[in-house]
Amino acid sequence: MVLGRGIVGNLTSVLLADRTLRLAILDQLIAESDPRYFAFTEKTKSILDGIKLPLNWYPVNEVAIFGDNKGQLILQNVEGRALFYVASGKQFHEVLWQRVQSNPFVEILKEPASARLKVICEGQHSVTREKLKIPKNSWSYQQIAMAGLLCHTPRKIDKAFQWFHKGQYGLEILALLPIGEIDKSAIVWSMPLEKAEVMIHLTAPEQVALLNEISEPHLTGFNFITTLHTWDIQKMRVDQWSGRDRENQTWVLVGDSAHGIHPLAGLGLNLGIGDAKLLADVVMNNVVNHPWKGVDHLPSIRKYERQRKTDILWAEWVCDGLHGLFAHPDNRLHLLRNWGLNVLDRSRFLKELIVKTAV
Ligand SMILES: Cc1cc2nc3c(=O)[nH]c(=O)nc-3n(C[C@H](O)[C@H](O)[C@H](O)COP(=O)(O)OP(=O)(O)OC[C@H]3O[C@@H](n4cnc5c(N)ncnc54)[C@H](O)[C@@H]3O)c2cc1C
Repeated sequence: MVLGRGIVGNLTSVLLADRTLRLAILDQLIAESDPRYFAFTEKTKSILDGIKLPLNWYPVNEVAIFGDNKGQLILQNVEGRALFYVASGKQFHEVLWQRVQSNPFVEILKEPASARLKVICEGQHSVTREKLKIPKNSWSYQQIAMAGLLCHTPRKIDKAFQWFHKGQYGLEILALLPIGEIDKSAIVWSMPLEKAEVMIHLTAPEQVALLNEISEPHLTGFNFITTLHTWDIQKMRVDQWSGRDRENQTWVLVGDSAHGIHPLAGLGLNLGIGDAKLLADVVMNNVVNHPWKGVDHLPSIRKYERQRKTDILWAEWVCDGLHGLFAHPDNRLHLLRNWGLNVLDRSRFLKELIVKTAV
């Protein structure tokens, strides 16, 4: 049984049911429409292409990154491969849910039922994980992320922007992702709690003025197409991702139920999709090649847990490293990080190395 109707829950259901495994999905909470556009790696795209999801992909071939004191780094695609891809969260939810509903191997339940394997995909505030009394360690970044859509002066159709800005209240990270039109972008803006408190009481033109302070002179002429939705940003670690409950049923955590990172690198959902893919592979390998083990074979599930815990370490490292580097108040670091960006920007070799590693 799959618990949680977010992207990761629905994708896990599709990956398992597409390989003719009978499973149930719990339809208790209706996932609200997601206004975000997400950044996806080439690897994630190939997982989704593998199950032929009809998503509109917007390739990003150039990213301009700006530091908090004239530091700047422009990354471009190497060997014709996009740096990353953008797709709509709303469309992703819709196509997945259609696939889930139309699959004859999926039963949609209103109430939890007993199952040999419970796949928990309920996000960071998972109720089932709490009921199982699985401890989590979480740290607030003391930041709020705001996301929505806006229009602006034209830019290259496949160019993304990111600014690390030292504002009055502390570090702000502003990202603009292309969504297939030269004058429209998806915005993700992370900011200290105090600034968010101010922002939510401002009118749209006043919010635009604050946006201009960060983005000028590179991009201007902003107008919000949607209101900004807000998210509290937490880092979260759960030490135990799998086990057996009191009824001796196996449970396993997938996606944000198991881990949480800062959205600054756009990696959280990519990690969740990687979790879903590996878990589906492990379960199906048992069903097809070792039927005596069954879908709920705990040692195999533990292998998934160990492998994914290792895989997510680099993402945690990148997010914490970048956040720590730009949030640090020391003036010497302030100079060093901007100098570092400019040095990288002048070295074609280092830039290509970064791009190849990231891709
Ligand atoms: C502003 C912002 C921008 C981001 N941008 C990116 C990006 O560009 N790229 C990227 O990779 N990641 C990004 N992330 C991270 C990404 O949003 C998360 O990692 C991802 O949404 C996690 O998906 P999930 O399905 O595991 O959890 P969630 O999205 O939290 O979904 C869990 C769902 O389960 C439902 N649920 C809970 N309990 C039950 C239950 N008992 N029964 C049924 N349903 C239940 C909830 O209502 C929810 O809809 C971003 C995050 C933020 C905040």
